[in-house]
Amino acid sequence: MSHVFPRHCHATLPTAVAGDGCYLIDKDGKRYFDGSGGAAVSCLGHSNQNVINAIKEQAGKLAFAHTGFFTSEPAEELAELLIANAPGDLDRVYFVSGGSEAVESAIKLARQYFVEKGETQRRHLIARRQSYHGNTLGALSAGGNALRREKFAPILVEMSHVAPCYEYTERDTAESLEDYGQRVANDLEAEILRLGADTVMAFIAEPVVGATLGAVTSVPGYFKRVREICDEHGILLILDEVMCGMGRTGYLFAHEADGIKADIVCIAKGLGAGYQPIGAMLCTDHIYNTIKDGSGFFQHGHTYLGHPIATAASLAVVKEILNNDLVNQVKQRGAFLESALQAKFADHPHIGDIRGRGLFRGIEIVEDRDTKTPFNPSLGLAAKLKKAALAEGLICYPGSGTRDGKHGDHILLAPPFIASEAQLSELVNMLARAIDKTLP
Ligand code: PMP
Repeated sequence: MSHVFPRHCHATLPTAVAGDGCYLIDKDGKRYFDGSGGAAVSCLGHSNQNVINAIKEQAGKLAFAHTGFFTSEPAEELAELLIANAPGDLDRVYFVSGGSEAVESAIKLARQYFVEKGETQRRHLIARRQSYHGNTLGALSAGGNALRREKFAPILVEMSHVAPCYEYTERDTAESLEDYGQRVANDLEAEILRLGADTVMAFIAEPVVGATLGAVTSVPGYFKRVREICDEHGILLILDEVMCGMGRTGYLFAHEADGIKADIVCIAKGLGAGYQPIGAMLCTDHIYNTIKDGSGFFQHGHTYLGHPIATAASLAVVKEILNNDLVNQVKQRGAFLESALQAKFADHPHIGDIRGRGLFRGIEIVEDRDTKTPFNPSLGLAAKLKKAALAEGLICYPGSGTRDGKHGDHILLAPPFIASEAQLSELVNMLARAIDKTLP
């Protein structure tokens, strides 16, 4: 009997024993193409020798030095490299052990920033409906997916949720894309004014929505308007790039595509690339200095933050991405993947939408392609599709239809940046076979 506590208590999962580039191998020797990098994690594939060597070398040198007493060389070097390549005014890096911790840290940083400024009434956080920001209680509170929150109510943070920028179901067809983006952003401002602008501390959003909606980009101009609104009302803009960051969308930081500056950015999955648990929160010097010149102490921290082996591995990951020009490679292979998906699925009667950016792509499955009517969520199509894909030898990340009746089940694709065009074509073929076997 297994003593591992599995998330899906009734699931029997294959046992993974090895990784080889874009493939995972189970105990029976079956190979799986990692079409979703797990959950947009394994950007370099599974056996990157430079990362493995960096881990071994650091483990032999220094495994742990508590950050209450020491900083470490790999943490210093990694922070420097991230900041040298980050857009806007991001100047400080706070390391944590994963995405939820990064979001949790961002929420606490925003709160403490306003407390230090004497604006203690700024406690409200605004996020978007159908968003996911992590599983710890603060991050869960930020998430706008009612299903995930309901077992843990009442939640922690004073929260409001506004509409996401989800063009194809929410846009009035008479409206231009740009007008739609401005309207959704202006709804955010209306919510800020309703709450009282001086009670709001931050707005948090994913530049490209990953797990909940399946690689949904925002329409042009939306985030620019969001930035203006935050500035007008003195509100911090927190961007959650835990999933879409680190080159995944063809930009090292996904919000570069929107041409905006963030106050705080959370990254995680691609930063560790699956080799170790790590996350980070980047913020401006202005926020950092407000705390430094105030109480001088960020009232937050975890034992393993900035762990030398974790940061050494991530330093090797970021160097691999930068030195091999993988961000550009993602742009090119992303365009190839998009064409392959369009060629295979554009006329498919049950594919409602093909979307995304770079090697971050979503495919929506609907009952009726013209009306976009979703299949009934009780069919559990996404879970069935995941199973059928695994049987084909493909790992892809499923998302269930949302309960608003507007959005269908979706599949998120996030293959390793090193995937060849031939491998991406094979991914699309395997997915097509799995879809055909799954649909009712
Ligand atoms: N934010 C986003 C956007 C995510 O996709 C995730 C993970 N799916 C998280 C936060 C939480 O990250 P973790 O699972 O590493 O805690």
